[in-house]
Amino acid sequence: MTEAERRAALDAIAAEVRACTSCRLHERRTRAVPGEGHPSTEVVFVGEGPGLNEDREGRPFVGRAGDLLVRLLGSIGWQREDVFITNVVKCRPPENRDPEPDEVAACAPFLRRQLEILDPALIVTLGRHSMGRFMPGTTISRAHGTGRPADPASGAHEAMVFALYHPAAALRAPAVEQASFADVAHIPAALDQARARRTAPAPTSGSAPEPAASPAPPASPTRPPTDQATPEPPALDQLTLFR
Ligand code: URA
Repeated sequence: MTEAERRAALDAIAAEVRACTSCRLHERRTRAVPGEGHPSTEVVFVGEGPGLNEDREGRPFVGRAGDLLVRLLGSIGWQREDVFITNVVKCRPPENRDPEPDEVAACAPFLRRQLEILDPALIVTLGRHSMGRFMPGTTISRAHGTGRPADPASGAHEAMVFALYHPAAALRAPAVEQASFADVAHIPAALDQARARRTAPAPTSGSAPEPAASPAPPASPTRPPTDQATPEPPALDQLTLFR
């Protein structure tokens, strides 16, 4: 898929999200929040659901949690425009309550299709609800700062998933904020590993790769050439963020 084709496919999903009436969350939304970002990024951040500011603006992570996410990205030399940011549910749950299972199920095809189009090497989950979609059977306190292969049923094939605390939780507790900055520092290495896993021959043992002992130097995000029909796979020693 070219970058233009990816962009068009993502725009088509966004239009469907904005018109969606599949669950009760559409009744009280101001705006749906499909997600946004670079169509050729290899890293997708997935939050839980829009809050008050996101509902007003129709964009993900634009409130205080978004400001912190931008600072977290900045700490590894990345900008929010370099990645794709979306949520498990695309409409604001009233009073920021947790999304109900049937609401998550109704919205799941949108996230799955976004991931199929973006085909990221790395998915970064923000908070326990998002983590539960990709890393079932663990807790955020155990999983934060670690990665594992993503369930292919999520729509992301051969991707790794890396868990972060939700930025809103970090805003409430300085210790969680500190842990979040420490966790984010491992993302460039996790991306490097995720790329290597995709291009490596299938392992014979079936075990997940170990996290790197120390973080790689921060990746320097580079805009990809636009509309390359068949981009070459990146060399393993390259730390560019995009294909
Ligand atoms: N919290 C989320 O999980 N998503 C947003 O978009 C904003 C806040």
